[in-house]
Amino acid sequence: EPKFRNVKHLLKKALPRELYSLIERIGEVAQELGLNAYLVGGFVRDLVIGRKNFDIDIVVEGDAVTFSKEVAKRLGAKVHTFERFKTATLIFPEGLRIDLASARTELYRSPGALPEVDTAPLKKDLMRRDFTINTLAVKINPSEFGRLIDFFGGLRDIKERKIRVLHSLSFVEDPTRILRALRFATRYRFELGRHTERLLKMAVERKLFKTVEGQRIYHELKQILLEENPLRVFLKLDRYGVLAELFPGLRWDREKKDLFEKVRKSVIWHKLNFPKLSPDTDYHLVYLLALFWGEPENRVKEYLAALTLPGKEERELLNLLKRARELLPRLESADRNSTYLSLLESAPEELLIFLSAVSPPEVSEKVREVATRLRYIKPLVSGNDIKALGLKPGPVFSELLRRVKYAVADGELPPDSREEQLAYLKELVDAVKERNNP
Ligand code: ATP
Repeated sequence: EPKFRNVKHLLKKALPRELYSLIERIGEVAQELGLNAYLVGGFVRDLVIGRKNFDIDIVVEGDAVTFSKEVAKRLGAKVHTFERFKTATLIFPEGLRIDLASARTELYRSPGALPEVDTAPLKKDLMRRDFTINTLAVKINPSEFGRLIDFFGGLRDIKERKIRVLHSLSFVEDPTRILRALRFATRYRFELGRHTERLLKMAVERKLFKTVEGQRIYHELKQILLEENPLRVFLKLDRYGVLAELFPGLRWDREKKDLFEKVRKSVIWHKLNFPKLSPDTDYHLVYLLALFWGEPENRVKEYLAALTLPGKEERELLNLLKRARELLPRLESADRNSTYLSLLESAPEELLIFLSAVSPPEVSEKVREVATRLRYIKPLVSGNDIKALGLKPGPVFSELLRRVKYAVADGELPPDSREEQLAYLKELVDAVKERNNP
């Protein structure tokens, strides 16, 4: 029997006011159309655990596409619908997004099937999920707003801090759940339930990953690498023999683990220092660089082929690995700011983060100085000044301006004196003239 209790107060506390009232209004529309609507999945799990999460997923017992169009019309939102999957995304003017899905069984119910009792569609939808902690739902129809629905003991398992599957074939049905189990266990510092742990070990022994599409494994791997501390998940992947299944022959020693920890610190450094660049930075790639660092290129290519990475991402990763290998020795023998700057000027964020993790402390310091300061040096002289000094515009212009920048980086020119920079520029221009008309 499902247990009910009310979490309206939790919702109110956890959500920004606009989001809370949007959910209320969606519940009202559901009520008017005679449908039941529920918050489900990770959002509810995190609501109960007390972790910030604004990824709202709603399940309706009925057609989510029709429902979402109606909600969009009434609440002035945009809507993207996916007819095939009977799902939709609402996008509100303030940028808030809400995903909606149809409780699945209604769609597939066969003509002769018995009529379902009250909450059956929701229950069947939740039954297909990975772990009990992900099966909680909160009803949002106004008459029962905030009612927590717990068919599978999710609330108990959150209290006991346990990851539990819903049935014995869960990992066999979908081996990517092995990765998810260890990710959630790490994130929440939960343990695997005893039975669940046994099932997981059996599933690993049966080498079921071979039967899974590479992309699905990669998707879950990426989620792991986007966690706060991927190393802690990887220690578990190693302990349960998953790592050896996914990456046969991969070196996973003290050094590799230390590198993961250094990457974690570099990622934190980067997020703190470059909040504007953060959303566009692929932090998971930095960990992939660490994972494959020191492995022969052929083997890396095999790993990537097995994961069927998108072609673009595969090329990007191989290219970053190559650049890191080439840059490291050159950085180690550099001795001026301008050298570090010229080596790193065109490096993408992921490469800078990785290099700052993988290089020895003094070099790492310099990589970070390039990232935070040197690359932003703006000369106080410009192409117009060069023109005024008598040169015709051409490729030499950017070369000269770069030399001014490098002189500032090396401390040979004050960053704030246009006069001195101009004098230096004039020397450079004279040398060019000399070279052109000896
Ligand atoms: P996170 O907090 O990392 O975003 P999440 O659980 O909120 O995790 P998703 O990974 O997008 O987000 O999953 C959404 C929901 O879909 C989960 O709560 C889970 O119930 C279900 N789900 C996802 N993957 C699987 C799977 N492989 N098998 C069964 N259910 C799954």
